[in-house]
Amino acid sequence: MCHARGTLKKHGFYERYVIPFQEELLISIRRFKCSCCKRTTSILPSFLLPHYQHTVSFVLGCLQETFSRVNDFP
Ligand SMILES: [Zn+2]
Repeated sequence: MCHARGTLKKHGFYERYVIPFQEELLISIRRFKCSCCKRTTSILPSFLLPHYQHTVSFVLGCLQETFSRVNDFP
């Protein structure tokens, strides 16, 4: 956020619920703190979207199903 380079240091974890399909899982997300501006950030795994509990593959599957239904109507 402050555009400093090489200043992120590991700063613990936070827990987050993830819903791959039916079940709900609790996973740990690594947090980082900038030693320059003192702000914290995290890097989500590639299978998660910010602010969504469902995984990327679940969301894409829902979108694909929705758009395939749109084509069923004249
Ligand atoms: Zn910073």
